[in-house]
Amino acid sequence: MQKQLNDHEALLKAMKHGVLLVNRTHQVVFFNQVAAAVLELEVYKRKLPERLVDLIEKAFIEKETVEGELETRISGEKFFFQVSVQPLHLPNSDKAKEKQGASVLVELHEITRLHRLENLRREFVANVSHELKTPITSIKAAVETLQDGAVHDQVNMPRFLEIISRQSDRLNTIIEDLLSLSRLENEGNRVLLTTGSIAKVIQEAANTCTIKAKQKNIEILTKAPASLNVKMNAALVEQAIVNLIDNAVKYSEKGTKIQIIAQQTKNEVEISVHDQGHGIAEEHHARIFERFYRVDKARSRSAGGSGLGLSIVKHIAQVHGGRALVQSVLGKGSTFTLILPAG
Ligand code: ADP
Repeated sequence: MQKQLNDHEALLKAMKHGVLLVNRTHQVVFFNQVAAAVLELEVYKRKLPERLVDLIEKAFIEKETVEGELETRISGEKFFFQVSVQPLHLPNSDKAKEKQGASVLVELHEITRLHRLENLRREFVANVSHELKTPITSIKAAVETLQDGAVHDQVNMPRFLEIISRQSDRLNTIIEDLLSLSRLENEGNRVLLTTGSIAKVIQEAANTCTIKAKQKNIEILTKAPASLNVKMNAALVEQAIVNLIDNAVKYSEKGTKIQIIAQQTKNEVEISVHDQGHGIAEEHHARIFERFYRVDKARSRSAGGSGLGLSIVKHIAQVHGGRALVQSVLGKGSTFTLILPAG
């Protein structure tokens, strides 16, 4: 009997999740190392968190397994656990209960990562809804104004049609960018990479942006050795460079210059897009590649941005096993660099 007990204790101690045995007066009869770490000092004081006591009490009263979640701080950091409280003795009579001493088995499974992902998903859905709602509200207001009579107003009608057209374009940009992100996430590790010339890709990207740049009298200069090869998916790398040039055009004044330089460093290739634009204050650098993060919301919206351009650049870099960086000084321009494995 003693050997069996020892075996059980050894088994419980080795478990990867927290296990506690708690009696009817909420005293901890047994706990494994994980449970001790999770509940920190409280276990040593034999004092359980209130939320856990509530679940334990519920399990005793209902005489069946109770599930719930527990939020706790370990060394100041927040952790989440899925809790299951299972009554161990379901006595047929009060006498038996007295004799055996009712207790419950508490199991703690860590779900912090799941919780974080769930929060990110929730936040993302809220952001997308908000981003889509803004242009739709403008389109609806313009249509209603036209219906209310502006359709016969030769002076104002073109203005409302222009609003509808511009906001539909914005909706289209947001949805296309969301689809690009989702494709990158779904197919990221299956993207086909082949060795090719980066100079060619840079030139294609620059050509795509020429019309927009010319409208602002911005000159795009490129410098890339023809022999420089990168292991890449050319279409994706072109999209990333287009996003960077497009931003450089959007956030620069008329008559400035944009320079794209590609060079090899050890076994990587760096593609930098320099502009002489507004620049970005340092406090934003760490978050600039997040979805929907914008330094100046109004400026981004009026420039037709979806707020997703840089997160697409980051994802494209990642599917190549590379990274994207920013260097910028407010008022002095920015340099965005895409670092990819050399071919
Ligand atoms: P957006 O569609 O808003 O341009 P991005 O993800 O491409 O979204 O960029 C995020 C934010 O980073 C922009 O809103 C802008 O505030 C800032 N930003 C990006 N590129 C530049 C740049 N070259 N110069 C100044 N600010 C920039």
